[in-house]
Amino acid sequence: MSEHADVVVVGMGPGGEDVAGRLAEAGLDVVGVDAELVGGECPYWGCVPSKMMIRAADLLAEGGRIPGVAGSADIQPDWAPVARRIRAEATDNWDDSVAVERFVKKGGRFIRGWGRLDGPGRVAVGDRVIEAGRAIVLATGARAWAPPVTGLADTPYWTNRDAIETETVPTSIAVVGGGAIGVELAQVFRRFGAEVTVLEVAPRLVGPEEPEAGALLERVFAAEGIEVRTGVTIESVRYAGGRFEITLDGGAVDAQRLLIAAGRRVDLGSLAVSSVGIDETARALPVDDHLRVIGPERMWGVGDITGKGAFTHISMYQADIVVNDILGRDVVPADYRAVPRVTFTDPEIGSVGLSEQGARDEGRSVSVGTAQIPSSSRGWIHKTGNEGFIKLVTDADRGVLVGATSVGPTGGEVLGLLTLAVYAEVPIDRLRHMIYAYPTFHRAVEAALADLHPV
Ligand SMILES: Cc1cc2nc3c(=O)[nH]c(=O)nc-3n(C[C@H](O)[C@H](O)[C@H](O)COP(=O)(O)OP(=O)(O)OC[C@H]3O[C@@H](n4cnc5c(N)ncnc54)[C@H](O)[C@@H]3O)c2cc1C
Repeated sequence: MSEHADVVVVGMGPGGEDVAGRLAEAGLDVVGVDAELVGGECPYWGCVPSKMMIRAADLLAEGGRIPGVAGSADIQPDWAPVARRIRAEATDNWDDSVAVERFVKKGGRFIRGWGRLDGPGRVAVGDRVIEAGRAIVLATGARAWAPPVTGLADTPYWTNRDAIETETVPTSIAVVGGGAIGVELAQVFRRFGAEVTVLEVAPRLVGPEEPEAGALLERVFAAEGIEVRTGVTIESVRYAGGRFEITLDGGAVDAQRLLIAAGRRVDLGSLAVSSVGIDETARALPVDDHLRVIGPERMWGVGDITGKGAFTHISMYQADIVVNDILGRDVVPADYRAVPRVTFTDPEIGSVGLSEQGARDEGRSVSVGTAQIPSSSRGWIHKTGNEGFIKLVTDADRGVLVGATSVGPTGGEVLGLLTLAVYAEVPIDRLRHMIYAYPTFHRAVEAALADLHPV
């Protein structure tokens, strides 16, 4: 016999938890389903603990940069207490049982288990079937993906979860994947004493970013003793005697640990979406600008599963639209022109909107302007660790910014100004005439505006 609810939310990560809680607060009968921990990847194995690790690693690096302080460059990092503290803090703040209790207090009903669709309007969890009268929301995120490399599946390789849970820094680690997650963790482990090699199949690190960002990061990594090999083909992986041997098309890498950070994939098959007519092999759930799933009735998608950007802020942004849409309120349709992205390396790489190449590919008349952080006032004051740049991409015909990159000690924070400019389409002329505080990193935006020239 099936049960009934107004809304069933499958996946209680940042987006799903928000949707479920707010709809329950609005008085709907909501069932939230999660196979693992309420809160999802972000608080337990993603954004939050990784940024805590980065904070610790950056403090170490900053300490080592103090000129004239004896021994500051030789600070002996001890990882275990840092790891334990991060686990404790993350658990204190995002305790799964507290999250469940909070949802139940709002009137929600929670089921721990694996949810799958069971035809239109129905969700099965084990042998329970819930009929959703008003909406089904799919918010099941994405999972770490391992490339089909010979031998890899038989080895005890790490994903982000193992890397974040470890209480021991490996003596050496190979990181497959030079995207945001790979480079962030590579730098953390290096700063805590590991020998680190980053292996990237693409020609450069942080591929979706401006090429200058990847090139700068490679230089910074080289200076820190991180070996970066780009454009590699990984032929096979073997694990024997406590060591990984990674065979490349040119050479081999030997390491105590292997972290696979080669991307995350959505698994529509395990949700049985074909039972509502959706292709299970699709890379993402097809949704419109109200996050309604294209095809079935009364179904919405939220977060990584929609393929609109694997960020917690995208998931939360979409959750707001879904809540309003389900409650029949006015909805401002989703707009992804100004999605901010931050890779929290040192220097941080922030970017928004289109890259120079992306703008050209769209057939726009492109102007770009660049300013180097070391030659800005604040960069000069900052001295060591001041690597970075601002790059602006404009649609010259329209006189607005369509993309920007901000690399530097606080690149992600400087990005706020640029995100607003892209989102609100602030005319370049207005940006040129506003006042930029002296001496800030964001003041370099003014110099980049002065450098704008057609390309
Ligand atoms: C190491 C790392 C660092 C990151 N850093 C950042 C960062 O700095 N900033 C940022 O914005 N993003 C970051 N991210 C990405 C961010 O974590 C994700 O974009 C975000 O968690 C996606 O949220 P979501 O709502 O799609 O759900 P997820 O967090 O993916 O959660 C999905 C939930 O659904 C559950 N689930 C899955 N399938 C089922 C099923 N069939 N039935 C029941 N439950 C199911 C899972 O158990 C999980 O709880 C990082 C990710 C990683 C791995």
